[in-house]
Amino acid sequence: MQTDLIQEARRQAEVCNACRYCEGYCSVFPALHAKRAFSDGDITQLANLCHNCRGCYYACQYTAPHEFALNLPQALADVRVDSWESHAWPGGLGKIFQRNGVPIALAALIGFALLFMIARAFGEEGGERYYSVVSHGLLVAIFAPAFLFPLFAIGVGLRDYWKTVGGEKVRLAHVTQAFGAAANMKNLKGGHGDGCNFEDEDRFSHARRAAHQLTMYGFLLCFAATCSGTILHYVFDIQGPHGLFSLPKLFGLPGGVLLAFGTAWMASLKLKSDPELAAQNAWSGEMAFILLLFFIAMSGLALFVAGSSAVMPTILALHLGAVLAFFLLTPYTKMAHGFYRLAALVRDAQSGR
Ligand code: SF4
Ligand code: SF4
Repeated sequence: MQTDLIQEARRQAEVCNACRYCEGYCSVFPALHAKRAFSDGDITQLANLCHNCRGCYYACQYTAPHEFALNLPQALADVRVDSWESHAWPGGLGKIFQRNGVPIALAALIGFALLFMIARAFGEEGGERYYSVVSHGLLVAIFAPAFLFPLFAIGVGLRDYWKTVGGEKVRLAHVTQAFGAAANMKNLKGGHGDGCNFEDEDRFSHARRAAHQLTMYGFLLCFAATCSGTILHYVFDIQGPHGLFSLPKLFGLPGGVLLAFGTAWMASLKLKSDPELAAQNAWSGEMAFILLLFFIAMSGLALFVAGSSAVMPTILALHLGAVLAFFLLTPYTKMAHGFYRLAALVRDAQSGR
């Protein structure tokens, strides 16, 4: 990890530890105040507990032009992004994606979509509707490894992260507490329940929390749609395409709508927010991740509307290309943030505060 980023965050954490004005703002400050000195692992853990609400920056009397020049949201964001990049496996890919996220995601989406179109031109027709474009066997052959590889890569990264932050043996109570905090996004409510100042310094707002919730639950519903389709296929021998009142559609359609709204909202909030309080050099990677999810949601909904029309094969190729790009890039995009944040919440639960 970059020692200059850790050093700067440590300097700022030490000032906050003396000041203590932001005591009740978020889970970062109780964790910070519990220490007298900060190891590199402590700073990494604090960085992954911070969710960049920016409340502490706008409340702080020591921001520039004060000589302390505090900007804790940016200092922690820099360490946080660096921690994902340096724990990403194989090494180096995280940094490349964060710097060039939009062109990489676009190239991967178009490249994979072209491959699906070529596969359609040369492959065998394998069944009805979507399977007449890409056979079920080919989909499984491509997506099974594309799903398992990112999980393995993230597992390797999380193991290293756990060592870095000095994690202890994980108990069920820690995991339950962490999932509880993540599920209702408690920390995004702000210290006093007024929300955060992400997009506008003077205005407390729950917009970011709501956009995160739409995105997360939309994504989980889409994932449930895929899982239910797989179970119907392999356990009950019920093969797609599925009807409107089937589980894959009942999960997938609302999931796609929530995901599209959530990601569009998050992108608009990000465009309004001050980039000086975010991580340096990570804007492209974060925006690419949001836009990729938005495209997956919109192309999935467009597929439903297109039915069996002549444009369906092109939309399907683009949708599958986007999903494949999303899976393969997961360990290097902001998607990794969800896993590291959960690990940070488990570690925080172990402190017993
Ligand atoms: S961010 Fe500023 S006001 Fe808040 S605890 Fe740190 S030094 Fe004090
Ligand atoms: S930006 Fe928000 S979450 Fe991060 S340390 Fe400041 S108050 Fe806490």
